Amino acid sequence: MPVAIVGAGPSGIYAAQALVAQAAARGLPPVAVDLYDRLPTPYGLVRYGVAPDHPSIKAIMTTLEKTLDHPQVRFIGSVNLGDQITREQVRRAYHAVVYATGCQGEVRLGVEGEHLAGVWPSRQFVAWYNGHPDAPPVQVAGACSAAVIGLGNVAIDVARLLLKTADQLAGTDMAQPVLEQLGTHHIRDVWLIGRRGPQHAAFTTKELRELLTLDEVAVSVQPDGVLDVQDDPAWDRRVSANLAALRAAGQREVPSPRARLHCVFFHRPVQMQGSDGGHVQAITVERTRFDQAGLLTGTGDLLTIPVDLVVNAVGYRGLPLADVPFNELTGTVAHVQGRITEGAAPSVGEYVVGWAKRGPYGVVGTNKSDAAATVSALLDDMQAELLPTPQPGLADTLAERGSTYADWQRIDSAERAQGQRRGCQRIKLAGWEQLQQAIGQPAPPAWEQPTG
Ligand code: NAP
Repeated sequence: MPVAIVGAGPSGIYAAQALVAQAAARGLPPVAVDLYDRLPTPYGLVRYGVAPDHPSIKAIMTTLEKTLDHPQVRFIGSVNLGDQITREQVRRAYHAVVYATGCQGEVRLGVEGEHLAGVWPSRQFVAWYNGHPDAPPVQVAGACSAAVIGLGNVAIDVARLLLKTADQLAGTDMAQPVLEQLGTHHIRDVWLIGRRGPQHAAFTTKELRELLTLDEVAVSVQPDGVLDVQDDPAWDRRVSANLAALRAAGQREVPSPRARLHCVFFHRPVQMQGSDGGHVQAITVERTRFDQAGLLTGTGDLLTIPVDLVVNAVGYRGLPLADVPFNELTGTVAHVQGRITEGAAPSVGEYVVGWAKRGPYGVVGTNKSDAAATVSALLDDMQAELLPTPQPGLADTLAERGSTYADWQRIDSAERAQGQRRGCQRIKLAGWEQLQQAIGQPAPPAWEQPTG
């Protein structure tokens, strides 16, 4: 029973694992899973989204690898849906197709100056420090002051990496040019700016505490009185713990700090100003408050902060995927409980998992139960004999267009060998050329950068 999964990030790999396990548990014939990815490397956001200095989260790869090693699972890299294969071809080649392509776009702030040099959407900035082959060449040389917009875990990752020294990051899997570039800034001030209060922040307490207790980094919280909120019984424990962590950080003595983190709540960006050369020089933020209707509104009080780097970490957004039905409202693949819908009708044999299904929320593990639910629906349809019969041999023809699991293992070995030289577990091969060299193929043409 051949089934295709498009996207070999955590949600795709969890779906593969669930397909193999659930089909066996139901006494169905074994499922042969083809796991496609547009990159020659598996693991998606675990490899290219999780911060390099969070090795314990990156270690999820070891668990995911067991699924890739499974004899019923075949990894097929370097295949982009819409280029090397079309939706129609995949549908004809398999009983069922599961899309696990995540969110490829970013939320924009829509303020003047957002397109100045030195202003980066977090999706691109994170891709850069993680060595994604499509990442733009970020320059931070000489930067002294940075603004990070948003109160989510991505904002925390970015702020933390900017507040760490290159020496503190040398033990990570960062590609050498990225590490060297990070060694060229002189950032003394990081402004973490949120349009709402600490009680509304999306970040998790563990990540927040880590940021607030970095060595030699002093923390201030603005505006005055923002932490004087009464604990509300309606809050979950995370919110109370976040407030407690921020209060404790304000009390912490840091003699001769190397850098400062300024947490600025209830302020929203309204403009970024640039130099004659078009590089960001300052950001203006406006104080906000809730009006009588409970809506967030500007007060007209402005604050201008000199910065030479801005990272907008205000969220990811799904983008339409080659011919696959898309819901513009939710920014996800159009579906009902994981079954893809075309207009009002279900598109038989097509399913979705992960961020492409739910939007960009939840930690890596959230994808496991989510994938299991979609796979259960798929196998129900299979047992009800609703799924189409695949065209014999077509799956193998499509698979031949891509790179193999053995190719990925060559990249993996090359990265581990590089890592040994820097005394760490691995160093990423960043850039198409290096990846293709490792598997002995010419570099493909650069993919179109998706626009958000
Ligand atoms: P997120 O958690 O949704 O946070 C987005 C932040 O951006 C919110 O504070 C939001 O504020 C703010 N925002 C949105 N639009 C804005 C605007 N126009 N102006 C100003 N602020 C705006 O998104 P994320 O940080 O990108 O994270 C995505 C997911 O990945 C999350 O589930 C996160 O937990 C997960 N993640 C986890 C880890 C980890 O576990 N270590 C690391 C990274 C990411 P409002 O609340 O006011 O809208």
